[in-house]
Amino acid sequence: MIRASSHIASMSPYAVAQLDTPSGKRLVSLAQNESLRPPSPNAITLAQAAMTGGHLYPDPSWKDLRSVLSQQYKIPFDDILCGNGSMELIACIAYAFADEKNAVLAPAHAYPFFQTATQLARARFDTAPEHNGCVCVDALLTAQQPDTRILFLANPGNPTGTRISRGEIRRLRDEMRDDVLLVIDEAYGEFADHLNEPVFDLVNRGNTVVLRTFSKAYGLAGLRVGWGVFPAMIAEQIRKVMNPSNISLAGQAAAKAALEDQCYMQDTCVMTANLRDDFIIRLRRAGYDLPDSFTNFVLIRLKDAEEAKSLDLALRKEGLVLRAQGGAGLPNCLRVTVGVADDLDMAADVLEHWIKEVRP
Ligand SMILES: *Cc1c(COP(=O)(O)O)cnc(C)c1O
Repeated sequence: MIRASSHIASMSPYAVAQLDTPSGKRLVSLAQNESLRPPSPNAITLAQAAMTGGHLYPDPSWKDLRSVLSQQYKIPFDDILCGNGSMELIACIAYAFADEKNAVLAPAHAYPFFQTATQLARARFDTAPEHNGCVCVDALLTAQQPDTRILFLANPGNPTGTRISRGEIRRLRDEMRDDVLLVIDEAYGEFADHLNEPVFDLVNRGNTVVLRTFSKAYGLAGLRVGWGVFPAMIAEQIRKVMNPSNISLAGQAAAKAALEDQCYMQDTCVMTANLRDDFIIRLRRAGYDLPDSFTNFVLIRLKDAEEAKSLDLALRKEGLVLRAQGGAGLPNCLRVTVGVADDLDMAADVLEHWIKEVRP
């Protein structure tokens, strides 16, 4: 009999969005935190143009893309690694820096892929409680164990949408053990950049990594490009576990062009924030409990898992798919991606109707 490795056999598959809706209904997916609009037209044009060289392997060191990243974010060229989405970078960090003899720590309601990556590396996954839907630095410090090797933290967080300040991140780094690798995942960083100074300089300490992605604010989720800033010694180890030709020609070309069109990305962030905040106001008025969001999604907190399930079903009946949050330890919550105005209106109509029925 063929047997999978025991740590793989005992894992559940990653819970991807279930996008099935009743037949005859148009699918409205608000489930995956995708951008509300297509990529910058420049990115589309350059990705298409890159296809003429499609018989050749892509640049394994992403030089064109890295040099624009380096200029745009004022980061040393040599500190940048690019991934097939930031998910690849997260998995490679776990592979390279944790194993069955140690542990990975994350906030209790963190991005579920941190746990998946930890399981792939055979390490133990520890969590620290959050407070009022927000990452708690003190709880993370208390939850550190002698065998903790990596601390993963998304800021702003997914699925909570909340954020902690640069000062809190700095305090976490100052008070954590120096030999624990801190990974700050800023997948939604562009949506909050106007509120905060960047944290890229923490990478200079040699034990901190900052990740970003083109999947959210830049709208390139389907092209799979993530990136991060790494101390040299960390980058050297990560490269060993990465696919050496990880980002397609089209992906590299699109990401570079998207980066060169900052106006388009910033407009996307402003449009998203306006729709998001109107949606939050409308739902709070209807009686829903939602935290403020600093991302392109909002979290709806219901009474319990049963309510969340019933609301999910009511929405699916109309073709609307949100994301259940059991995997992030929030079975009473549904996450709504900020889509185009018509789709959000449609969701808000169903949500208003539902709450009147269950809490008259
Ligand atoms: C969406 C998301 C990612 C994954 O992004 P890709 O670059 O598409 O792999 C990583 N971290 C968080 C917190 C996310 O929400």
